[in-house]
Amino acid sequence: MRVRGYAAQSADSELAAWEFERRTPGEKDVVIRIEYCGICHSDIHFARNEWGGTTYPAVPGHEIIGRVVEVGSGVTRYHKDDRVGVGCFVESCRTCGSCQEDLENYCENGVRGTYGGVEDDGVTPTRGGYSSHIVVDEHFVLNIPDALDPAGAAPLLCAGITTYSPLRHVGVSPGDRVAVMGLGGLGHMGVKLAASFGAEVTVLSRSPSKQADAERLGAHDFVLTNEEGAMNALVGRFDIVLDTISAEHDINGPVMSLKRDGTFIMVGASPTPHALAGGPLIMGRRSVMGSLVGGIAETQEMLDHCGKHRIVSDVEMITPDQINEAYERAVQGDVKYRFVIDCTQF
Ligand SMILES: [Zn+2]
Ligand SMILES: [Zn+2]
Repeated sequence: MRVRGYAAQSADSELAAWEFERRTPGEKDVVIRIEYCGICHSDIHFARNEWGGTTYPAVPGHEIIGRVVEVGSGVTRYHKDDRVGVGCFVESCRTCGSCQEDLENYCENGVRGTYGGVEDDGVTPTRGGYSSHIVVDEHFVLNIPDALDPAGAAPLLCAGITTYSPLRHVGVSPGDRVAVMGLGGLGHMGVKLAASFGAEVTVLSRSPSKQADAERLGAHDFVLTNEEGAMNALVGRFDIVLDTISAEHDINGPVMSLKRDGTFIMVGASPTPHALAGGPLIMGRRSVMGSLVGGIAETQEMLDHCGKHRIVSDVEMITPDQINEAYERAVQGDVKYRFVIDCTQF
């Protein structure tokens, strides 16, 4: 089927209108008229080939919200007009140990990205949500609770599950002390979600301008980490530190701020390896872990949790012709806290 979207034609060209073909819907497929798509930093890295491997034309977008317009004869979970979502991946092997445990995101045979992957035919690139329609197997389609504003719900499909999954994995409970580093797209969801689990949330930041927002988002405390002695005063304080910063930064101080048996969760990848001292890990039996989005079942659990607690992302709506400007602003960190494209204009 022919669809309309926005694509980058090369690593150094701006995104522009482009029409392309989606696969003919199969019996387990859901055809979605996309209404909203968030702009994730991964989209920018992909469009600009900053991680390598991008094939052009490239259509980014993996925070997709829309309405079902058609279902295949074998689809049982969705019906026409349902509001649905699609996140970072659209297929997996379904048979490996990870897939069997509902952890398709860690598929041992390689999960198929919503963009940057390859269709069943082995040649056609998958193309993301900066477009009018998408065709996805129902297993990888999420139900969006009616209680959620659909535009604000779009970033839950990547930024939301990226922070929800590790916080759940380590079992954040009421009264736990959680520190969030970096108040961007990921960090602002981390604050909202940790607070919704009943944790006492502290934002660690180098910029005083973030304090008012941190409190508005649900943080109970705010620490300026570059103030003299600030990190020393935090030694042994937190159960969990959620690090969402993707630029180079020190993590030894934040690891020291953990209690015994505390966990440092890394969801933002620094371009260069961190220097991490062994002492603080050994002395307090502290751990460092990473985490990549979440499986389909857990993503649905996250959406249902957000529906119950009325949690969405703070978004700034744009039209397709503003995508390039939004990329520039996102790179500068000039967005509160996620750009969302009005895809009804495709
Ligand atoms: Zn993303
Ligand atoms: Zn698998």
